[in-house]
Amino acid sequence: MTAKPVHDTMDQFALQGDELSVGGVPLTLLAQRVGQTPFYAYDRGLLRARVAALRHALPAGVKLHYAMKANPMPAVVGLMAGLVDGIDVASAGELKVALDAGADPAEISFAGPGKRDAEIRQSVAAGVLVNVESERELPVLAQAAADIGRSARVAVRVNPDFELKGSGMKMGGGPKQFGVDAERVPALLAQVGALGLDFEGFHLFAGSQNLRAESICEAQQKSYELALRLADAAPSAVRFLNLGGGFGIPYFPGERRLDLAPIGANLAALQERARREMPAAAFVIELGRYLVGEAGVYVARVVDRKVSRGHVYLVTDGGLHHHLSASGNFGQVVRKNYPVTVGNRAAAAERELVSVVGPLCTPLDLLADRMELPTAAIGDLVVVFQSGAYGASASPQAFLGHPGCVEVLV
Ligand SMILES: *Cc1c(COP(=O)(O)O)cnc(C)c1O
Repeated sequence: MTAKPVHDTMDQFALQGDELSVGGVPLTLLAQRVGQTPFYAYDRGLLRARVAALRHALPAGVKLHYAMKANPMPAVVGLMAGLVDGIDVASAGELKVALDAGADPAEISFAGPGKRDAEIRQSVAAGVLVNVESERELPVLAQAAADIGRSARVAVRVNPDFELKGSGMKMGGGPKQFGVDAERVPALLAQVGALGLDFEGFHLFAGSQNLRAESICEAQQKSYELALRLADAAPSAVRFLNLGGGFGIPYFPGERRLDLAPIGANLAALQERARREMPAAAFVIELGRYLVGEAGVYVARVVDRKVSRGHVYLVTDGGLHHHLSASGNFGQVVRKNYPVTVGNRAAAAERELVSVVGPLCTPLDLLADRMELPTAAIGDLVVVFQSGAYGASASPQAFLGHPGCVEVLV
């Protein structure tokens, strides 16, 4: 049998002999350097290359923000802060990481429903932009500005009157806990003006994990048009227009990487319109998963190899508790396998059909269901690709009391 990649996404990580490498370090050596399994490893070179590719594809002048909820590891945020134009945070905890990382407060924005009063005050003190998601936040912002003696920078997050088609997770359109319904925004803008808040613009985020360029372009066009309509009711010119993101990455067989060219062309056309219609507005695109997702792997060690009624189970020291999304339990409707290989034998010709499971006492703890993988032995390193986003921080590490995982940036 010839060695073939389990999935196209393997092409990102170079092979050294049979072995996969991350950031130029062969996997077994990296595991020794980390000192334990399981771990996540993020590749600096791939993160840099991804940002460079985006810059190349998007028109100059479109600001690129990193939505750090995708991967809040401080070293990753520190690297990203130096590569992108701004950081989007969704809690005071994330705000601290972004500020510690050296991100410019002028280019940090804070979105999220249910902001606590203390978080709003911290944001005003830090001088970051607050994306208002509720009428309730306005008087809190005004009071914070008065108490602290700094202006409160605000943008209005709009719950649009459309959805992002083909999106893995919809976060706009219809009734939503996110943003302010478009039809209620004019009244809210009047209040922003009356309270003397420093209005900067609009934030629209229609959804996530979209692999269809046409849908993203359509959402950006509709977002732009909605912002243009709402701008009539704004207390001052729109300087900030966050058109969202939602750029997806391929996880499953048959999925293809997003084509950036039409998105770049669409944004250029919208910028051209904005020069006439909203001349002060700077466009922002906010991306989480797309920036970091493909640059990370999750690595767990095979601790047992069991055969149950003819089916091989590789039991690893990692699983659902570190990597909820690869187990299929983070928003997926139908469970599908993430791309997986045996990292220290990635190019080995000998393969077998196996399931990879974790140590948790639940059938949900599944990393690969009936996949053809290089034939593995106890001690081998199972690698889950596409693991740079929504991994460690999005997993219930305390569930069942196993050791936590480590994260490294290589
Ligand atoms: C989660 C989120 C993002 C990031 O989504 P990705 O799919 O990781 O790109 C961006 N903006 C907002 C408002 C979010 O809630």
